[in-house]
Amino acid sequence: MTAPELLAILERSGAMLQGHFLLSSGRHSDRFIQKFRIFEDPAVAEKVCGALAAEVQAAAPQVIVSAAVGGVIPGYIVAKALGIRNMFVEKMEGRPVLRRGFQLARGERVVIVEDVMTTGRSAQEVAAVVRSLNADVVAIGAIVKRGPVESSPPVTALLDLPLSDYAPDACPLCSAGVALQDPGSRRVGA
Ligand SMILES: [Zn+2]
Repeated sequence: MTAPELLAILERSGAMLQGHFLLSSGRHSDRFIQKFRIFEDPAVAEKVCGALAAEVQAAAPQVIVSAAVGGVIPGYIVAKALGIRNMFVEKMEGRPVLRRGFQLARGERVVIVEDVMTTGRSAQEVAAVVRSLNADVVAIGAIVKRGPVESSPPVTALLDLPLSDYAPDACPLCSAGVALQDPGSRRVGA
C-alpha cells in the first residue's frame, strides 16, 4: 500500500478531518486524525493493518505487543496476518504493565504496533516493558507517523504525515476567523 493510497483510505473512512482543531497539546491544527475510524470498517482495518504486517514481517516477529487502547485492534490484526501471538500493555496506576496473564519468554522477538504515532512515547513505554522481561524489540510499526520520532529500532510507518500545528496566538485559522473545534470532546479512550 502506497502512502497516497493510505491517505485516500483515511479520507474516505472519515479518519482524516480537515478544519480547525484544538489538539490535546493545546496547539491548533488544520488536520486531525480521528484514529478509531480507521478500524470502524473491518475490511478497511484488515487492508491497512495487513499492509503494516507486510512491512514488519522481515523482522521475523514471534509476538505483537501494543499499547491499550489504541493499539489493541491494529495489534490483533497484524498478529492475525502474520500468524503469531498478540498481547497488549496497559496502564495501572499510571505505570505501563503487561497483565491479564500475558507472558513473554526471554529472547522472544517482539514487534510493537501503534495506530497513529506522534511523539513515540507510548511505543517507548511498551518497549521498556518488553525489555524488562528480557524479550527483544525487533521492529516498531505504525500506521501513521506524525512527527520525527527518535526510537531504536526505528519506526516503520505506512504514512509519514508530519503534524502542522500552531500556537493559538500564531494560528492563521484563528486569524481568518474559522471556528475552532475540539475533537477531544468526542475522542474515544486514550
Ligand atoms: Zn487556531
